[in-house]
Amino acid sequence: MGKRRIVVTGAAGFLASHLCDVLLSEGHDVHGIDNLATGKMANLAHLASEPRFSFAEQDICQSFDPGPFDYIFNMASPASPADYMRLGIETLQVGSAGTLNTLELAKKYKAGYLHASTSECYGDPLVHPQVETYWGNVNPIGPRSVYDEAKRFSEAAIAAYQRYHGVNTHMVRIFNTYGPRLQANDGRVISNFMMQALRGEPLTIYGDGSQTRSFCYVSDLIDGIVKLAWSDEHLPTNIGNPVEWTILECAKEVLAITGSKSDISFQPLPQDDPKQRRPDITKARTLLGWEPKVMLHEGLGLSLTYFKSCVEAEKSAASI
Ligand code: UDP
Repeated sequence: MGKRRIVVTGAAGFLASHLCDVLLSEGHDVHGIDNLATGKMANLAHLASEPRFSFAEQDICQSFDPGPFDYIFNMASPASPADYMRLGIETLQVGSAGTLNTLELAKKYKAGYLHASTSECYGDPLVHPQVETYWGNVNPIGPRSVYDEAKRFSEAAIAAYQRYHGVNTHMVRIFNTYGPRLQANDGRVISNFMMQALRGEPLTIYGDGSQTRSFCYVSDLIDGIVKLAWSDEHLPTNIGNPVEWTILECAKEVLAITGSKSDISFQPLPQDDPKQRRPDITKARTLLGWEPKVMLHEGLGLSLTYFKSCVEAEKSAASI
């Protein structure tokens, strides 16, 4: 594949910043866009002197035009439960107006389009593991609905632009992902547990810890996203690690990796917290030849230096 001009929205976020790195390493020119509502310029600091990377601070809910491009990855949205509940209206806007604006641009420039969708489309799933043909079990007015329904609207809009306008669209349903650049304070389970363990504080388990998640290391996820982007598949495709962990098991894994002596503290379970989540990745395996390679123990080890640096940064900020 030749060199392309690629736009990445949400570029300063955890996943999209890693995606920019991979696209640049494949030889493309990358234009990043972010309104910095939850993204951090620190995630892009290493690209400051990269001539094939450019950046614009821009809210994609407002009309914008970055000029002709070949492909757009629409990765912009608050994504952790704490962030999207704090920024509920903004999350609904980016999943509706933001998605429509980026689809119009893809149509205008006859460009390819990949959207970061989510396992949250399945809500609190009644089918396990989750296969792409399952329509989900979402509370449309619950506290998580600002994210779940925004992402489901995005999928409907993308399917329509493919159907009515022939836009070359792709949708990845992303399952829980972790790794360096995961925001240390965004309330997600891996970042909370790693930070708490390294600070010597109790690990906060919500509920009894029997709920499950399946954790994908960031490099595996980006590999799957890029393979999907260059494929001919228009329907949603799960990308995630199919090994399922209870949250209690996950806490024990974090204690083992960090060597921490922290206690565990049980806290109330948030409303509508999905009880189980595990991707069926048969489609990604057969269609893309994709398979996750990094298991949780190894991935937490690869993330350790990053979380240690976050704890150090906290300490030095507190001492100023
Ligand atoms: N969780 C927890 N302790 C924390 C943060 C999260 O027990 O400090 C639980 C949360 O209730 C959920 C799971 O871990 O069951 C994953 O939460 P996260 O916010 O990482 O992502 P989600 O999969 O819910 O979007």
